[in-house]
Amino acid sequence: MLEPTSDEPYDPDLDTTFGGAAQLIANQPDGPDLLLAEHRRTSTGECAACSVYRPTDWPCVLVTIARLAQRIVLRQVGR
Ligand SMILES: [Zn+2]
Repeated sequence: MLEPTSDEPYDPDLDTTFGGAAQLIANQPDGPDLLLAEHRRTSTGECAACSVYRPTDWPCVLVTIARLAQRIVLRQVGR
């Protein structure tokens, strides 16, 4: 079972959640590119990957996270 890593209360703020997820993706080799390759726009304007489960408009939340991750990667490369 996973133990909490800190005593800080869970912060449901979306920006924080997106930022943390984007950081995880950015740390994977080609993480953002792989996500964007899967979550591409179909001819009907839906996300190809997410719409497997239910119709989801593109860009989906994962595209948003992947784009954020790309910015993090670019910032790391630029250092
Ligand atoms: Zn998607």
